[in-house]
Amino acid sequence: MALNTKKYEFTNSDGLTPRKFLVCPQCREYITQVDIENFSSCPFCNVRLNRNNELEDFVLQPLAERWAEQYSSSLSVRMR
Ligand SMILES: [Zn+2]
Repeated sequence: MALNTKKYEFTNSDGLTPRKFLVCPQCREYITQVDIENFSSCPFCNVRLNRNNELEDFVLQPLAERWAEQYSSSLSVRMR
């Protein structure tokens, strides 16, 4: 099956802290997780972003990473 069902495109910033952005399918601007949470549409061209699984994962990713960080840091404290 070579069918491409991928709807959204993502990119990583080159800054000091690696961040992931959603590339707007219409205007190609970079959209952050916060933008999607607050507006659920592109803040640049106002195109509506459908909250599919791909987008939910993207929005929830920083939260999951923070949980993992807290979990691993509390684990290392306990091991000391
Ligand atoms: Zn846009």
